[in-house]
Amino acid sequence: MSASALCSTDRAALLDRLERESFDCVVIGGGISGAGVARAASQRGWRVALLEARDYASGTSSRSTKLIHGGLRYLAMGDVGLVRKTALERKQIFRMAPHLCERRWMVVPARSYASLLTIRAGVVAYEKLGAVAGEDLHRNWSAADLAREEPAIDASRFKHACVYREYLTDDAHLVIANLRSAAALGAAVLNHAAVEAILREGNAASGVEATCALSGRRVRVRARCVINATGPWVEAVRRLEDAGAPPLLHLSKGVHVVVRAERLPIRELVLCGARDRRSIFAIRRGDVVYLGTTDTTYAPGPTAWPEIEREDVEYLLEPAARHFRGGPLGPEDVVAAWAGLRPLIAEVGKAPAEISRRDEVLVGPAGVVTMAGGKLTGYRPMALETVHRAAEVCGLRLAPEPGEEPPLPGGDFDGDLAALEAALERETRLDARTLARLVRLHGTDVREIARLGHEPLVPGAPLLAAEVEWGVRVEGAATLEDLLYRRLRTAWMLPEARRAAVLPASLRMAKLFGWSEERRREEVVRVSERLASELAFLGR
Ligand code: FAD
Repeated sequence: MSASALCSTDRAALLDRLERESFDCVVIGGGISGAGVARAASQRGWRVALLEARDYASGTSSRSTKLIHGGLRYLAMGDVGLVRKTALERKQIFRMAPHLCERRWMVVPARSYASLLTIRAGVVAYEKLGAVAGEDLHRNWSAADLAREEPAIDASRFKHACVYREYLTDDAHLVIANLRSAAALGAAVLNHAAVEAILREGNAASGVEATCALSGRRVRVRARCVINATGPWVEAVRRLEDAGAPPLLHLSKGVHVVVRAERLPIRELVLCGARDRRSIFAIRRGDVVYLGTTDTTYAPGPTAWPEIEREDVEYLLEPAARHFRGGPLGPEDVVAAWAGLRPLIAEVGKAPAEISRRDEVLVGPAGVVTMAGGKLTGYRPMALETVHRAAEVCGLRLAPEPGEEPPLPGGDFDGDLAALEAALERETRLDARTLARLVRLHGTDVREIARLGHEPLVPGAPLLAAEVEWGVRVEGAATLEDLLYRRLRTAWMLPEARRAAVLPASLRMAKLFGWSEERRREEVVRVSERLASELAFLGR
């Protein structure tokens, strides 16, 4: 199997290694921030350990809108620096992983020519800042263009559209690809291992103590620097270093709902106006469309599973009736939903939607380097800044930057996804639907996955049984939830397999791990309860 495999079956050996070796840095948190740091530090010659409390990307980094973007909205907020940085960054991510940075159109419908001109002015400014060029420059659509390209948009209300380029990713796979790349460079990466204490020598942090949630084993991991990359949990980890650390974050909940594409047959991405004038994205992805997002203060504190309320769902569905043909959408049309917490850096007196998405790197009294705020899109510059700061704090040397970023696993092709798909179709003979789904998650790795077999996991669904083995042996899935939510993506993106994949996937995982029948059933019950709880709003 791949050199960049993440450990899942031989965890005991990795725990031995974590305890035995002495690392340059230990990263706490396996979301995009931690994964970016692990790769950047490994590329610069550091010996890296990364510990994730639950699963990689199980926090905010699998709950995003999945846009690799400059954020046109942030331009309206005057956040020019953030827009420039992230708009330029998407080119870099496209170069490293074109399959995880899919070029799509964002359609902004306009009722009148005057409103088209206003929208266009914002888009032009955005394109200038981000040095957008060529094929990616915006277009204006007439009523005839709209009717041809996006017939689901209500032509009686919208006569024009401005269409600009957005890039769509799979957030969880972007995290996993960065971690695999770090692992291939020698990093020791482990999920289901929560950090519970910071070790010290004198007053300085010298490592962490963590517990493996699957075996109960406690390990002490020694490192010259400690990096806190725990997103919504950064305050809790800062308090392990300094019990009196002042509050830093304003958590904001963002919900997305998923409907079948037959109910909302858009082809691309459409920007809709919510009743409070916020923008809601409707995003076509395979056979589903997801709508998001809300942006409301979340006071109860960090959790991996914020509740989805009926009012969140109704708020997201309401614009559909004003933008699309086919009648209103109701909660019963929702086939899946997710919620995540934005770890925003608090700004006194501001509501979540007004708070900047900027990032910040802070150093605590024992030298723990904390990264806070930011966007998925800006993860690379944020990781680099953190590594440089950590090098200063701990007196560590950094090897020179790699000239051009090497590709992420699966990203070693020229960026032409359609050509890759056509080549893989000839080579693997996979059916078109399965291939279309796989190539966007795995890029050139589809070759290796297809070599493991073509048997479907669920009859009729575009999903291979081989993906279970790949998810476990290469992508580090250790529980059924890890596999279905963040590897196969059936829970949110494939309604026909959402429940149907649970049993066959559990049987295959049980074989790979040697689980007892009791353990397998526990996994099935846990995932089934989780799937049901996401749609609990239907009963409220
Ligand atoms: P997380 O992904 O939450 O990772 C932190 C990790 O730390 C978690 O996995 C957690 O389990 C782990 N952890 C916590 N405590 C411990 C411990 N004690 N020991 C070990 N591990 C621990 N950005 C974009 O660029 N584009 C978008 O379209 C976009 N849309 C968004 C939509 C929504 C609704 C939200 C909420 C955010 C969106 N963002 C978007 C922002 C982006 O998702 C976040 O900035 C990013 O994912 C944060 O990543 P992170 O690694 O800092 O945090």
